[in-house]
Amino acid sequence: MTSMKNDVYDLLILGSGSTAFAAAIHAQDLGKTAVMTEGRTLGGTCVNRGCLPSKNLIEAARLVYDAAHPRYPGLTPARLGVDFPALIAQKDEVIREYRDQHYASLLGDANETGQPPIELVPGRAVLVDPHTARVTASNGEVRQLVGDQVLIATGSSPLIPDLPGLSETPYLTSDLLTNQENLELTELPRSLLILGGGYIALELGQMFARFGSQVTIVTRGPSILSGYEPEIAESLTEILREEGLQIVTGAQARSVRHEGDGVALVVKLHGSSRTFTAEQLLVATARRPNTQDIGLERVGVTLDGTGAVRVDPHLRTNMAHIWAAGDVIGRETESQMATPVGAHDGKLAAHNALSGESLQKVDHTVIPRTIFTDPQVAVVGLTDEEANARGIACRCNTIPMSAVPRAGAIRDTRGVIKMVLDRTSRRVVGVSMLGVNAGEVIHEAAMALRFGATTDDFIDLIHVYPTMAEALKLVAISFTKDVNRLSCCAS
Ligand SMILES: Cc1cc2nc3c(=O)[nH]c(=O)nc-3n(C[C@H](O)[C@H](O)[C@H](O)COP(=O)(O)OP(=O)(O)OC[C@H]3O[C@@H](n4cnc5c(N)ncnc54)[C@H](O)[C@@H]3O)c2cc1C
Repeated sequence: MTSMKNDVYDLLILGSGSTAFAAAIHAQDLGKTAVMTEGRTLGGTCVNRGCLPSKNLIEAARLVYDAAHPRYPGLTPARLGVDFPALIAQKDEVIREYRDQHYASLLGDANETGQPPIELVPGRAVLVDPHTARVTASNGEVRQLVGDQVLIATGSSPLIPDLPGLSETPYLTSDLLTNQENLELTELPRSLLILGGGYIALELGQMFARFGSQVTIVTRGPSILSGYEPEIAESLTEILREEGLQIVTGAQARSVRHEGDGVALVVKLHGSSRTFTAEQLLVATARRPNTQDIGLERVGVTLDGTGAVRVDPHLRTNMAHIWAAGDVIGRETESQMATPVGAHDGKLAAHNALSGESLQKVDHTVIPRTIFTDPQVAVVGLTDEEANARGIACRCNTIPMSAVPRAGAIRDTRGVIKMVLDRTSRRVVGVSMLGVNAGEVIHEAAMALRFGATTDDFIDLIHVYPTMAEALKLVAISFTKDVNRLSCCAS
C-alpha cells in the first residue's frame, strides 16, 4: 500500500529514536513511505540524554582526573579548572550538531534516488485503533496518521521507585543530561546521593566525583552491578572507593525528604536506620519501557510482566501488522536496552513488516556491552551463573590486569578479566573484562563467540603486542598454564 494521502503511510512508527530511524531508513530503502512521531526531542534518548552526552562529559571528567593523578613518577599533578556550565554548553553543542547531522538531515525531501521521504510528526502519539495514531503536538494541534504496518519504538524512561517522600522531594534522573528541556542540570552539585548501582549510577557517579562532587552511591543489592560477574563488581567497587566515592550496598531505601538546601535519604542498613544527606539526589534505579498511555491496551497489544511489549522472534506483537523493537521490548527475545540493539532490530522489524520476503529472526545471543566507567567494564555472552543456570557444565578463570603486558607498560593495572567456557567443547561462552579499553577489546570476544571459538582459537591467534586485547589470549592460556610464567607475547 503506497500512500495516496498525506496521512496514510506504509509504516507508522511511534517514536523517533535510533530504533525508529533505522526502521524508517530501511522502509525508505524499500521504496515505502514511513512516518515517525516524537513526543520529546527528535532522535530519542541516545543522542539527546543518553549515550552521547554521557560519553562526552565522562571523557572531560577523565581529563580532569588524569591531570590530577598522573600515573607516572616524573609527571607533576595539575589541577584543571572545571567550568561546569561551559562544559554543559559544549555538550549541548555536540548534541545539536550530531542530531542535525545524523537525524534531522535524514528527514524531508525525497532523496536523489527518488526514494520516498521520511516524515516526522512532532507530538505525542496514541493508538486510537489498530492502524491509526492520534498525534497531539505541544501547541495542541492534532493529526491522525494511518499506517498499513505499525512499529512501536517508544523506548524507555527512568523507573521511579515508590519511595515515601519522593514525590514531594526534588530529584534528578539521567534526564539531567538532556538539552532543550528544563530537566537539564547546569550547575555542579557540591554533593550527590545516587540511588541505584547499575551502569547509569556508576558512569554518572564517577563522572560527578571527578568533576568535584562528593558522591555517595546507595544500592539495595549486596554489591553494585547485579547480574554481572562478582569479580568485576568487587574490583570496580574497590577502584571507585579509592577514587573517593562512597559506595553503600545492601541498603533498603525507606524514605526521602527535602532537608535544608538538600535531601535526606533514610535507609535500612544491616538492621538499623541510617540517614544520608546531599545537595542533590539522582534516582538511577532502573528503566521501564514506555508502554503506558499509548493506546496499546485499547488496540489489544499484549505486554509482558515487566510492562514491555511482548514480541515473537520476528519482533511481531500479537497483532499481525504491529511490530515492536528497541528499549520498549525490554528483555523480550533476550534483548537488551542499548542503541545498537535497537538500531539492528528496528531495521529487521521494518524488513519483516514491509519487504514481503521471508521473515527474519532476531538473534540476541551475542550482544557486547560496555559500561563507560574508567576503567571500562565490557561483557559478552554468559556469566558463570547464567551458564550454570542453562545447564552448561562450565569452567571459569579470572586473571588480574597486572598479567597483561600493556597494562604494566602504561602503569594502569586496574581490573580483571574472566572467561567462561563449556567444559566439554572448550568453546568460550562468556567474557567479562574490567580494564583499560575493555570496550574495544570485547569485540574480539564477541566475534569469537559468534563463530563458536574455543580457548585454542584465542591462544593460536597472534595478537598485537603490547595491547589490552592480549588479556583474552592470557585468560584463555590461564586454563592450562600459570600466566605469570610466560615470556613476552604470552608465549
Ligand atoms: C544515561 C544513559 C546512557 C546511555 N548510554 C548508552 C551507551 O553508552 N551505549 C548504548 O548503546 N546505549 C546507551 N544507553 C541506552 C540507549 O540510550 C537506549 O538503549 C536507546 O536510546 C534506545 O533507543 P530507542 O529508539 O529504542 O528508544 P529511545 O531512544 O528512547 O526513543 C524513543 C522515543 O520515543 C518517544 N516517545 C515515547 N512515547 C511516545 C509517544 N507516545 N509518542 C511519540 N513519541 C514517543 C520518546 O520521547 C523517545 O524520544 C544509555 C541510556 C541512558 C539513559
